[in-house]
This record gives sequence, structure tokens and C-alpha cells, in this order.
Amino acid sequence: MKTLRGLLGIDTQREQYAYADDAHAGYVSVQRLADRWVKTTCGYCSVGCGMSLGIRGDKAVAARGNPDHPVNSGKLCPKGLAEHHAISAPGRATHPMLRRNGDWSRVSWETAIETMAAEFRRIQERYGKDAIGVIGTGQLVTEEFYTLGKLVQLGLGTPHYDGNTTLCMATAVAGYKRSFGSDGPPGAYEDFALADVILLLGANIAENHPILCRHLDANPRKTLIVADPRVTKTAMMADLYLPLRPRSDLALLNGIAHLVIREGFVDRAYIDAHTEGYAELCAFLERYTPEYVSEITGLTPTKLHQVAVLYGRSKRGMIAWTMGVNHSSIGVETVNAINNLALLTGNIGRPGASPFSITGQCNAMGTREAGFTSSLPGYRKFESEADRAELAALWRVPVERIPAARGLAYPDIIEAALAKKIRGLWIIATNPVVSFPNRDVLRQALDNLEFLVVQDGFHPTPTSELADLVLPAATWGEKEGTYTNSERRVSKVNRAVAAPGEARPDFDIFLAVARQLGCADELFPGWSSPREAFDEWRHVSGGRLCDYSGITYELLEQHGGIQWPYPADTIEDPGAARRLYADGQFQTETGRARLICGEWKPFPEQPSSDFPLVLNTGRTVEHWHTRTKTGAIPILDTLSPRAWLEMNPRDARALGLRPHERVDVLSARGAVRRVELRITEIVAPGQVFMPFHFVEWNVNAVTQSEFDPVSREPNYKQCAVRVETSAGANS
Ligand code: SF4
Repeated sequence: MKTLRGLLGIDTQREQYAYADDAHAGYVSVQRLADRWVKTTCGYCSVGCGMSLGIRGDKAVAARGNPDHPVNSGKLCPKGLAEHHAISAPGRATHPMLRRNGDWSRVSWETAIETMAAEFRRIQERYGKDAIGVIGTGQLVTEEFYTLGKLVQLGLGTPHYDGNTTLCMATAVAGYKRSFGSDGPPGAYEDFALADVILLLGANIAENHPILCRHLDANPRKTLIVADPRVTKTAMMADLYLPLRPRSDLALLNGIAHLVIREGFVDRAYIDAHTEGYAELCAFLERYTPEYVSEITGLTPTKLHQVAVLYGRSKRGMIAWTMGVNHSSIGVETVNAINNLALLTGNIGRPGASPFSITGQCNAMGTREAGFTSSLPGYRKFESEADRAELAALWRVPVERIPAARGLAYPDIIEAALAKKIRGLWIIATNPVVSFPNRDVLRQALDNLEFLVVQDGFHPTPTSELADLVLPAATWGEKEGTYTNSERRVSKVNRAVAAPGEARPDFDIFLAVARQLGCADELFPGWSSPREAFDEWRHVSGGRLCDYSGITYELLEQHGGIQWPYPADTIEDPGAARRLYADGQFQTETGRARLICGEWKPFPEQPSSDFPLVLNTGRTVEHWHTRTKTGAIPILDTLSPRAWLEMNPRDARALGLRPHERVDVLSARGAVRRVELRITEIVAPGQVFMPFHFVEWNVNAVTQSEFDPVSREPNYKQCAVRVETSAGANS
């Protein structure tokens, strides 16, 4: 009938393309017409955009930016604009699923939780308490991180809990701790608008944190310097672009510091009053002459001098970074070198002046603050007797139950599973089969487990397919709590619709596990909603650097986000920008920041005759991590449906490759087959680039098991590969 009407020229799409007026959104497609709007915070990246979800009946039908939110003033990037589709995307996990003798069967929640507790108990009785590991995420709400941390450490009694934040921000965390004595990004987004010089290092914000570009645009006076081996969209925005060689950033930073000292751009009064290690750093940096640094970075001595003069003379200098720095086996030392520059020039704790890590996931900051992974809750230190005693007193538990050292980090949990020391694993809202480096080793580790629980909003995923038990979780839009963004701004996340089927908020799942383990009354007395967890967390964070004690859900709703520290007696405007270390007092024993010497080293796997190209990995604006959500959203998938490999024309000519043909990417560990080739000057000769989102072209089949020795973050960014035409590429 439709075809006949179409043949007769009758408009068959009228209903689909009809428009109507929405009181909030204006003239919109009727498909996006909402009966009500629920304010919340974006659940993808750490920019933390405020938004509203449009709901019609029981369905999310639209998303729009919150014009009053201080982060995004109503704007959203493509992922945020399509975020309502993620809730009703195909592939949601709707019922607990148990695998018995290789076959999946649907089970009740009661059976699921009983089975999980019984299996974990069995493993712990046989192999010891720490034979259980937990790998979390940066995408739960802070209330869930706080609850999970207590449950794992005090309930399950294993210290081996970490999150996929170690694949992302652990380097920044460890770098801050070494330089300043504590985690916590010192600056504010306002600094992008106030700085006179901004150096973006390994940070492609135009692709990965697009709304931050609006903060840059608000600053017409700035000089923007972008250092990146690849001519990214962000590099194209730069006043001065530095095409440095892969992983030469630490040498670049040491070289700038050398020149800043030599040319007298240092702030001696600040150094003398607030830092330690200056004499040692000066002696160490002597060898980082422009000539030496030029050999390593490929940048001319003149260019290095230009950068040192720009940053050294700036009144308000900002250095921001993301994965180009973090995904490195010398990442922590690179972060320390960034912090050195800020300290040498007094560019910290003032408007427009900060070293600033741009975080990855929407609430990676929340797990750093409240979780139990790299620090005890409230950035307390595992190794501090006083911190442990304080926490034990707050929780009214014997101090012996608070671990005196952190458990295994994520890569070490995988190593322990490989060695059969970890026998049971609980993976929450993450997809390591796609995201962890050196995929085949990871697969072997998961195969070695006796019991694998995967808790996720989606099933099947490449990881949940391997599970013994799948726990279906509510996702963003279906639960309540708070996120903290990159500038330490806490924002409210709200439930707008019910979760599908029997899926439950992660918070409820944690309480159910606690009840089954018999520790709910002790650890979570009377808790039934995230508000109770938030109230306890406010109390536990009181007096700490990340002080939430003055923040309430009501204040967050009113102000669209508040930056911590926000103690209970705060009288200033909740919406005002706040910075850490404005008083020059740091969280070290002496109160002084540490200037740290970090020696540049070449990246671990150098190109060879068998594998002559350096592979870089990264992201594209349309997708989020492993595409569990964005791959199921038609508009985003259509915009970017497949992975590609970027190669310089010179290399393509030498290899006889043509644009858009299918190629194989091979390393000493594995291969990615039939990737579309893009021949482009965006990458330099000798380098190739691939996005990491796609399971179908999983770049982690070729990446390596190399990790920063301090943060344990993987060296994703450089590995040696060769590229060949795929078999049957032209068929
Ligand atoms: S920039 Fe980040 S927080 Fe903002 S809409 Fe996009 S994904 Fe969401």
C-alpha cells in the first residue's frame, strides 16, 4: 500500500517528518516532542555538560543542553545530542543470566545474587580472600563508587579492586600525588578563558571534549600552542603547532624548563616559598639543551625557544593534557614535568594559571575521590596510619580492616588471573575485551577464571559473552546520583525513566550483594537510596581536599554543579570558580610542592625491519569507548560506521597502497584485518593512526603489555606494526 501511495506521489513520510511546538525546545520533530523534561548531566565524557532529557510517556525522546549550566551554556556535542537513544538502544541487558554447562539461562535476582556470593565464598575459602578481584569503571555515580569501595574492601575482604580509570587517568592521579601530595586537578574551566598562553599537550579536545573548545573560543587574547604528533582537529586550531615525534613530550617539557630557567623566566619568590628540589632540578635539566631536545622531538631549537618565551613570559600560563601524555610508560614523569613548569613559573592556584588534566569518563573523578582504588575515600593515603585510623573511626570498624596498601592495579589483576592467583572476577560497566591492551593475553586471563561476573547495562557485549553470570544494570537516565567533572564540579544525575525488564541500578545490586554476604547492616545501615550514601560521603570527605560537606542535592539542582572543595561553612557563591593551592600550601608532609626530575626514555617497542611503522591510537567524536552505546545509536553509527587506518602518502606510495583499500595491521602480537586505509598528511611519515572503539577492528589485538611502573597505565600510544594489503582486498 505504501509503495502504491509512493508511486502515486502521496507523501508517505508525513508522520515521520511532522513538526510541532515544544514549550522548552521550540519547533521540533514530533518524534522528539516531550511531555516533560528532566534535568541531568551528560553520561559520556568528563566535560560534564548539563542537559535535560525529554520524556514522552515512559520513553526518553530527546536531549538538549541546559542553557543555565556553567559548563556548556546549553550546547552539547553529537554524542550528548543523541544520548536519549542510548537508553532504548538494542542490546540492553534485561534479566540476570546464568551460564550452566555452556548454556545461558534466565534466572531470578535471588538466584543470581545467591550464586555469585556462593561462588565467591567457595573461591575465597579454597584460595584465600584475595583470590577475588573487582574491575570497575568511571561511569557509575559517586554514591555507587563509595558503596562499592566499602563493599569490596570491608565486605568481600579483598584489596584487589581497580577501575578502567587506570587505562585512562591513573597517570594524572599518580603525577599529582608525587608533585602536590594529593590527587585533584588544580584548575577550573574558567582558566581556558583567562589564560594568555595555553599549551595543549596530547589533547585532541576538538574530537574528544568538544564543548571545551567553547571555553577556548571565549578567550580571544590567548596564544594556543598544540603539541601532538598528529595534525588533529585541535592542532588545526593552534596559533603554534608543534609536530613533535611520538612520545617525545617529556623531553619537550624538560627542554622548555631548561630554557625557562636559563632565560630567567622563573618565579624565584614562588619557588623559594612553596617548592622543594629546585637545585636538583636545575642540575638535572642542564643536559636538556635545545640541541639535545631538538634531536629527540624533531622540533627546531628556534621553535623550542619560541615556546619557552611564550610560556615563560605569560602572566597566566595553562598546560592541559589528556591521553597523549597519560597513555605512556613514562606518563607519570611527564605529568611531573608539566607540574614542574607550572611551579617554576608560579602558574598554579591563580585564575588562568594551572596544570590541568582533562579527564576521560563522566565520573572518573568520582571513583578517584570516593572509591577505594588508588586512594582511600577522601584522597586518604593507604600508607598513612593517621588516615586509616580516621577512616576506621568514621566507619566505626577496627582499623585492621582498612588496608595499609592498595591492592593490585587493573593490569596486575589481569596478570594475577593469568597466573591463576585471581580465580573470581567481578567486572562492572566496562568492556576489557575491547579496551585492554594485548587482547589475546586478556582473553587467556579471563579464560583462566573459575567464575566471572559481568554487571552491565548491555548484554551481550564482547566481555559479557564470556561471563558465567550477567547482572543487568540500569544505565544513565535510569538512576540517581552525582558525577564530578574534570574541573572538580559535582553535578546531579537524575532518573528520568524506568530501567528495562528487571535491570536494577548498580547501587541496588551492591546492597543486594551486601545483604547476601551478611554485611549490609554493618556497612550500610538503613540505606535504601543513593541519598544515604551521599550523606555519609559528605561526612567522610569533610575536612579533606575534596570536601563535599557543604554540598547537598538541593544546592546542586539549584546551581547546576558546584566545584569542590565546598566545606559546610562556605559562604561564597556556590557557582564561583574554585582552584586548589591558591595559598601555596600543598598536601605533602612539608606543605611544599615537589620539583621532580624525570628522565626521557624512548618508547618501549621501536620500529624494526619487520614492523617499521609506529601505531598511534585514539578516538573520534561520534563514538564513546567500545561503542557499547554509540554503536547502537543509528545516527552516530552512520556517521562513523567503521574503523580506519591513517597513513602518510609517502608510506602509502612506498607500500603501493591505494586510498580506501582494505589493509591488515600486524604487530608481534596479532593482527587487525581488513581496515579501511585513509591516505592523509594528518599523520607524519613512519606513523599510522587507528581509532580504538571498534571490536570488529580491535586495535588492541596489536597493542602491547607495557605499563607505567608507577600508575600502571598502558603505553597504548606507540607500538611497532607493518601494514599489508588484505587478502582479497580487491574482491
Ligand atoms: S562534550 Fe562530553 S559531556 Fe558534553 S555533551 Fe559531549 S560527551 Fe557529553
